[in-house]
Amino acid sequence: MTSKHVTHWINGKPATAAGRQGDIYEPSTGRLSGTVDFAAQPEIDAAVAAARAAFPGWRDTSLTQRVKILFRFRELLAEHRDELARLISSEHGKVVSDAAGEVARGLEVVEFACGIPHLLKGGFSENVSARVDAYSILQPLGVVAGITPFNFPAMVPMWMFPVAIACGNTFILKPSEKDPSASVRLAELWAEAGLPDGVFNVLHGDKVAVDGLLRHPDVKAVSFVGSTPIARYIYETAARNGKRVQALGGAKNHMVVLPDADLDLAADAAVSAGFGSAGERCMAISVVLAVDPVGDELLAKIKDRTQHLTIGPGDDPTSEMGPLVTREHRDKVASYLDSGVAQGATLAVDGREIQVPGDGFWLGPTILDHVTPEMDAYKDEIFGPVLSIVRVTSYDEAMELLDANPYGNGTAIFTNDGGAARRFQNEVEVGMVGINVPIPVPMAYYSFGGWKSSLFGDSHAHGMEGVHFYTRTKAVTARWLDPSHGGVNLGFPTNG
Ligand code: NAD
Repeated sequence: MTSKHVTHWINGKPATAAGRQGDIYEPSTGRLSGTVDFAAQPEIDAAVAAARAAFPGWRDTSLTQRVKILFRFRELLAEHRDELARLISSEHGKVVSDAAGEVARGLEVVEFACGIPHLLKGGFSENVSARVDAYSILQPLGVVAGITPFNFPAMVPMWMFPVAIACGNTFILKPSEKDPSASVRLAELWAEAGLPDGVFNVLHGDKVAVDGLLRHPDVKAVSFVGSTPIARYIYETAARNGKRVQALGGAKNHMVVLPDADLDLAADAAVSAGFGSAGERCMAISVVLAVDPVGDELLAKIKDRTQHLTIGPGDDPTSEMGPLVTREHRDKVASYLDSGVAQGATLAVDGREIQVPGDGFWLGPTILDHVTPEMDAYKDEIFGPVLSIVRVTSYDEAMELLDANPYGNGTAIFTNDGGAARRFQNEVEVGMVGINVPIPVPMAYYSFGGWKSSLFGDSHAHGMEGVHFYTRTKAVTARWLDPSHGGVNLGFPTNG
């Protein structure tokens, strides 16, 4: 089989450069499928220069014209959804139907951005003083960068760039080096949609590329999604370099199951949210807090469903869960099975027992029961198909655990008690809350983001918070002479 070579996309075309490269793997076979160029300073400078040169023209492009290009991009995305899904699956490992779902969720943000003429309307107050009007306008920032994780190589970039570009900015995407191909395909679709050269650029690489963008004086804002230690680093470094920054971090999402819940619904939810995409989702459920006395019955239902899941390559339509992204990640995730047992948990389902031919990065769905808060499997973000069951005696004990957790990305409660659900949504210190919904990813017209160590900065992604992040407001106070008064100005602006 031929080996592919993925390279940068700068100023509307591919840009190969000699230098360091990274390996790309096919997770279902373990095969090395290609290489990706890693940017050094010349490519970083070239991408920023292209985006900077494109900015004045794009900023002045009418909203009508911007929206025409966005609509065309939306159509192309829909047409190429299956192709993109296969590309994502081949490098990430997730099943093709799941990858198609990720493209669809990204497409919804493009649709949101198509409404940009309405979203960019400022305010206007007539006659704040005699013949004086006050109004606000929303203007783009300039060159903005997005740094994204491996787990959603199409959707997470699309949380950022449709809104940034619609607002009139130019964009540099630094995707994950583990599955870089989807970003280049998106760049090609933008070009086909008629986006001017330099408005959307892709720079591949690792810390060198990231640091180059964080330090570059012409990059005005940075959006980041990834793990908490890197999010903290991005936030601090970008802020120190005078940039606007939003950095979304890791997660440890808890699902609370109250005694009055529909346990079949809760078990279905725990299995799909725990093992979908092999648990490599920032909104995956990793801890089930089973409130007494539901523990044994709930575990039996979750276990039964887990044992019926079909594990296999992402491009096999019968597969419900694929492999993990790399061998190293699979081994790290698997290490929590040993540490969990050594620290007193029970292995209710052991994912190491699955049999898939070949040398892919496999680990089957795993259930650790009787997990307690001191265990590593509870404390760490595992980011794999390992579901921990924690038995708690009451709603209050569940809330104490949620409060003590450093992360605050997503959570869910399963109950038939509206009062309990309402109390939960009010009290819980988490950014995205599901009520009988296990993965409460907000629609594109709301904003996506967590609290506590799941977000550094104050803006969530897409929705109105995205529009605010990618624009700055200007307040104008204007006085015009009134000809009916013979050209004599009689008004005075208000002070302050
Ligand atoms: P990661 O933090 O390792 O990498 C994210 C990005 O940062 C990549 O582009 C990578 O090249 C870059 N990077 C990695 N190390 C760096 C360093 N030392 N200096 C500068 N840049 C560096 O994350 P990942 O493994 O790709 O993705 C999984 C993580 O992302 C999980 O923790 C998951 O929870 C998180 N995530 C969070 C959200 C959210 O919305 N909060 C969404 C998706 C994923």
